[in-house]
Amino acid sequence: MKTSKEIRKAFLDFFTGKEHQIVNSAPMVVKGDPTLMFTNAGMNQFKDQFLGNEPVKYPRVADTQKCLRVSGKHNDLEEVGLDTYHHTMFEMLGNWSFGDYFKKEAIDWAWEFLVTEMGIDKDSLYATVFEGSADDNQERDNEAAGYWEQYLPKDRILNGNKKDNFWEMGETGPCGPCSEVHVDIRSEEERAKVPGKDLVNMDHPQVIEIWNLVFIQFNRKANGSLENLPDKHVDTGMGFERLCMVLQGVQSNYDTDVFQNTIAELGKLCNKKYGEDEKTDIAMRVIADHLRAVAFAIADGQLPSNNKAGYVIRRILRRAVRYGYTFLGFKEAFIYKLVEALKGNMGDAFPEIVGQQQLIEKVIKEEEESFLRTLSTGIKLLDDIIVKAKKDNLSEIAGKDAFVLYDTFGFPLDLTELIARENNLGVDENSFVIEMQAQKDRSRNAAAQETDDWVELRKIEQTEFLGYDKLEAEIRIARYRKV
Ligand code: ATP
Ligand code: MG
Ligand code: MG
Ligand code: MG
Repeated sequence: MKTSKEIRKAFLDFFTGKEHQIVNSAPMVVKGDPTLMFTNAGMNQFKDQFLGNEPVKYPRVADTQKCLRVSGKHNDLEEVGLDTYHHTMFEMLGNWSFGDYFKKEAIDWAWEFLVTEMGIDKDSLYATVFEGSADDNQERDNEAAGYWEQYLPKDRILNGNKKDNFWEMGETGPCGPCSEVHVDIRSEEERAKVPGKDLVNMDHPQVIEIWNLVFIQFNRKANGSLENLPDKHVDTGMGFERLCMVLQGVQSNYDTDVFQNTIAELGKLCNKKYGEDEKTDIAMRVIADHLRAVAFAIADGQLPSNNKAGYVIRRILRRAVRYGYTFLGFKEAFIYKLVEALKGNMGDAFPEIVGQQQLIEKVIKEEEESFLRTLSTGIKLLDDIIVKAKKDNLSEIAGKDAFVLYDTFGFPLDLTELIARENNLGVDENSFVIEMQAQKDRSRNAAAQETDDWVELRKIEQTEFLGYDKLEAEIRIARYRKV
């Protein structure tokens, strides 16, 4: 079996062999770009070269980039832990051509790497190509499809719509069709029941997207029309943890050696085994994932704090603490104890984790302790609320009280509900939602402005980012409205 370390190296070596310059990952925390808080794709660090604001340094580049998708256009936070293949922080392997090679080489090399070099069974692969769009007077990307046809039967080359298969930087600017590689890792038996092609892009945990090849060939003008770019570019991104899952023959990113030390150590600390209970498993995945996001943010110089990027990091850490507290029984700081295991998983590729281990542990421990104090104050308050509700013969806790717990003590509604249930009480969710909505209305104007991959500066007003709690609240409201 290939280790994750070998897989990462194999990717970089492969593209070195194709005359690519290997560069370092840019920091995950972006400084000095008010339009982007965290790197969310490999392409970010090349933004200026790509827009022609800076000369192209190397026409062919490859790297592994630390990415964080917890805000703005790419916000996967709500999936993390519930599914097995979206992370907050992940590595994106990528290769680029700036005005050099185009679709043919990008597709040939993707195939050569995955099938010839890595030995992925070609019968488990699907490619998607842009289906075209009448609005833009654009045809299907037959050029890309033609290159895939060298390797794949036609019924494994699927059409995709604008949402999945057309990349745009923003409302105007460079854009173009993309072509994705998806892999079906189900057993023969499962494959016989439902064809893989019906599951591509359906959020199936065993039929997943691994690599996105973007072909930047147009410029979108202010009037909405497309013109051809003089220089065409390639921008690819492949999820490293997903690739490891496929190559290590496991069914979840968390079963790869990228996470295994952390999960084993966590199991020891809480005396629970991963894989025995779905709720505990979710909590363990959340913690193993969030640890990475927080540790790498700190290593990049972003400490948890009360505003902007620091606030996002604080919230991620608190989310992990809450899961540990609620589902794994941790009443004292524990996440900092996992940094050592994380170092074992990732320290080779990212020495910043090794060099800053002590700082990372210290910051996480202090954050955990201070949040646990707030949590326990909140729990005392909730105990009083419960006693009073029982005395008054109520069957529910008032939504207003649940909201105070949420807003002041960081109690998510499900934690309040859990504790209420243990006391045979419900929570008045409707009035909770009304309180939440009122707060949302108050802060609407201060909401985050990140909407596109990159926003051109002159287009946005400077506003302060308030963190994803507001987004979490919105999602919750949407969910409750549905019922
Ligand atoms: P998905 O549809 O699975 O959310 P995506 O289309 O949003 O992925 P891209 O923006 O195309 O992802 O990013 C390139 C690659 O990065 C994807 O093909 C996938 O392998 C990987 N990737 C994207 N988001 C995540 C994530 N949150 N965690 C881990 N890997 C990811
Ligand atoms: Mg996505
Ligand atoms: Mg996708
Ligand atoms: Mg994609």
